[in-house]
Amino acid sequence: MDAMTAPNSPYRGKRVVVLGLGRSGVAAARLLLRYGASVTVCDSGESAAVLERAALLRGEGCHSLTGSAAEQDATHYDLAVLSPGIEETTALVMNVTGKEIPLIGELELAFGFCNCPVVAITGSNGKTTTTELTTRMLQRAGRNTASCGNIGTPMSELVAEGEAWDLLVVEVSSFQLENIRTFRPKVALWLNLSPNHLDRYPSMKEYREAKLRIFENQTEDDVAVIPFGESLPELAARKITFSTQSPDADLTLEGTVISYHGSTILDLAETKLRGMHNAANLMAAFGCGIALGVEPRRMAEAVTDYTPPAHRCELIDESDGIRWINDSKATNLDAMEQAIRSVSGRLILIAGGKDKGFGFASIAPLVNERVSLAILIGEMRHRIAHDWEPMTVSTVDSLEEAVALAAEKSTPGSTVLFSPGTSSFDMFRDYIDRGETFKRSVKAITEALLTTSTP
Ligand code: ADP
Repeated sequence: MDAMTAPNSPYRGKRVVVLGLGRSGVAAARLLLRYGASVTVCDSGESAAVLERAALLRGEGCHSLTGSAAEQDATHYDLAVLSPGIEETTALVMNVTGKEIPLIGELELAFGFCNCPVVAITGSNGKTTTTELTTRMLQRAGRNTASCGNIGTPMSELVAEGEAWDLLVVEVSSFQLENIRTFRPKVALWLNLSPNHLDRYPSMKEYREAKLRIFENQTEDDVAVIPFGESLPELAARKITFSTQSPDADLTLEGTVISYHGSTILDLAETKLRGMHNAANLMAAFGCGIALGVEPRRMAEAVTDYTPPAHRCELIDESDGIRWINDSKATNLDAMEQAIRSVSGRLILIAGGKDKGFGFASIAPLVNERVSLAILIGEMRHRIAHDWEPMTVSTVDSLEEAVALAAEKSTPGSTVLFSPGTSSFDMFRDYIDRGETFKRSVKAITEALLTTSTP
């Protein structure tokens, strides 16, 4: 489909500005072009990557502005589309809102072009794992579906392809929900809520309110999949509940067996998923399928060979009887707590990273009970050491040093868990760079040990 053949587009001839030239911004610009809008893309940056994308889009018919020209653009547009990574308090966005140009998010834009039902998944932790699980399970049950949103492929990119999907599974962050208007998922999954992103939100209240918008446009024809006992405002949608603790939920866990209204669906022992948090993710994914009328046993077939994506409680080495676990994606304390609880016995913990606006005192009792040695890295290392007093900790200057110290202190039977509990940007490009650095350091040390112990 091209702009000439696009059906009755409400954007035809409209002047739209897309703010942010990341992957979502590029996808939004292309979608708008396809539907006949006159598109300008703006980004405050002027890095090689930004300039390259701007040039690419100019070649496709967009106008572009970068750097201070983008922040001072005097044009009055009919609409602005905001990429999720950009805060509304930045000069780029304030220039647009100051002119009272209506603003929507990229998710809202894409939803307007989506011709199939949407399953939307939010939560502080577990979104990516659960989005992957839900998509796989629905595909196994014969549905033509794909994942998009925060997980990687922007929703705008997928809907622009024009494929006739049965439904789409969309991972949504609080940032993406900030600028919705009509976004109405057929099934909305609320996994959990714990302190996070307090460097962007003034308090938990604003963070929670942004996330709650996932339910905002749902009616009694839709379904909300929620943890049993979670205190949420009155919801219009029909509810399906899950719980790893309570027998009163719709989806329950007894030992390792997941059931729906008393009928067994799956034994976790037949899967590669470890930890209560993954049991919850799995139950929530079943809830989404059940909401759509899919037979749970068919979905279960997709789970036995599933392993969560890398950097999430990922077992990377077991040589010499020492288990090394990479949980670099743990960027808040709830994820760190789940990782600690999923390890049996005492462990050596490597933690720390960027200061995101929360302290580590709340997790001190658990760390004290389960951790034999805490090795702290990053911008927050001294603050965490203070929060965990009087526990003995070691502060070191790099992840490589932390791994070396952990190797020195571990004995056969030990587990070394790298679960930072905060984000990586003080020392690394992102959590992937951080996790890969950890894996490389572990490999170097275990290989060196192997060489020295070989006769
Ligand atoms: P998200 O996309 O929400 O960041 P991921 O699936 O990428 O979630 O997992 C991020 C981190 O959270 C990892 O450390 C993982 O082990 C942990 N985690 C996964 N599911 C849960 C859950 N349900 N509750 C708490 N922590 C979780």
